[in-house]
Amino acid sequence: MANNLPKYAFFEGKIVPFSEANVSIATHAIHYGTAAFGGLRGYWNAEKEELFVFRPKDHFTRLMGSARMLRMSLPYTPEGLVPILTELLRKEGLREDCYIRPLVYKATPTIGVRLHDLEDQLAIFAIPFGQYVKNEEGMHVTVSSWRRIDDNAIPARGKIAGAYVNSAMMVTDAKLAGFDDAIAINEDGHIAEAAAANFFIIRNGVAITPPITSNILEGITRRTVLQLLREDLGIPVEERLIDRTELYIADEAFSCGTGYQVAAVTRVDYRDVGDGKLGPITRSLRDLYFDLVRGKIAKYSDWLAPVYASVPEAAD
Ligand code: PMP
Repeated sequence: MANNLPKYAFFEGKIVPFSEANVSIATHAIHYGTAAFGGLRGYWNAEKEELFVFRPKDHFTRLMGSARMLRMSLPYTPEGLVPILTELLRKEGLREDCYIRPLVYKATPTIGVRLHDLEDQLAIFAIPFGQYVKNEEGMHVTVSSWRRIDDNAIPARGKIAGAYVNSAMMVTDAKLAGFDDAIAINEDGHIAEAAAANFFIIRNGVAITPPITSNILEGITRRTVLQLLREDLGIPVEERLIDRTELYIADEAFSCGTGYQVAAVTRVDYRDVGDGKLGPITRSLRDLYFDLVRGKIAKYSDWLAPVYASVPEAAD
């Protein structure tokens, strides 16, 4: 991104040139991790000449939930943030796939660890963005020796900035050891999720994923995938604890998230998952997901917010 900075940002209540969206080095959030972020994708549909943002209201609802966990008070609602984002994207003029990063943060420049009596702010920017992980071949992952943060330490169900040190530890150790990603396990030894994605296995035709009480982020893609598996692909789903050794005997596995999209996991710690190739259920799901996010499946059009078509009514 360093050479590819956005032109604009939503910052301190208005859209400003990106170069003016700056904070002080004394900002509370930088020192104490007292911020939360979101991650959304916009998908360019060349045929319709439209940029579709995937489930923005759901992403903003989660962001506001993370803000509540951090005792933030902000003058925005999830519904109200959608037109703000649309305006920003139109101004940015993106006509390609992009990634959108909203951030809420404790903005006061001060020393003192706490959540209360601090000013809260929200910022949003967007950048062009393609693949984040391998979506064609499978990923080779390792079960991390780090443990996933527990809800009684830092809430894992929200995207709390400081908590991402936990994911960063796992990613760096995994990548420097030659793996594509890490799988996080909880203190109790059960699978939580991937470093920045939710995780599923397929066993005997059933899709299994840890419940939202397993120290996982409440992923929007996870929720989408659960519905697609059940309703469109007719695959039964179970939300239950997953043991580590189930990875060794699973038929298929995949990680899913806004960045990862649907990415097959075909090897875990030098063991093949199933036959070590992209499996049929993961393939069907991935193809369906890609059609859906590009606006090719009419029944899910409500999940997509078109950026250029939705010119707001002129005010009286
Ligand atoms: N878990 C973690 C830790 C993540 O960072 C992400 C990415 N936001 C996900 C899961 C997937 O969430 P979503 O589908 O909402 O992007």
